Amino acid sequence: MAEETIFSKIIRREIPADVVYQDELVTAFRDISPQAPTHILIVPNVLIPTVNDVTADHEQALGRLFTVAAKIARDEGIDEDGYRLIMNCNRHGGQEVYHIHMHLVGGRALGPMLSHKGL
Ligand code: AMP
Repeated sequence: MAEETIFSKIIRREIPADVVYQDELVTAFRDISPQAPTHILIVPNVLIPTVNDVTADHEQALGRLFTVAAKIARDEGIDEDGYRLIMNCNRHGGQEVYHIHMHLVGGRALGPMLSHKGL
């Protein structure tokens, strides 16, 4: 069994977070250390530690990450200007929390995809 992270506690509403969306498959909340005016994490409610652990059983939840990202981008008013979706995997990807999550980052021009700031 994979070890739970702080994100499971956020999903279960056991610790505070600025949750902007939740349904039976995914939860979205504002990043505690935002890298841009909009920085929201969208996570499957089920614990999947890394992208390497993804199976076909997860496809519905992982597809939902994208429909929710598009909805939140519209709600935040950044859909037309654009934004970036990021998912980090393991050490070289810079993953810090081992419960996969999609970063939705926008609200300013983000520059080149790979920069010294990692975005
Ligand atoms: P990653 O490096 O892709 O694993 O990203 C982990 C992200 O989780 C970072 O951007 C952190 O700022 C964010 N984070 C860590 N703990 C919390 C928390 N309690 N609430 C919201 N965001 C968090």
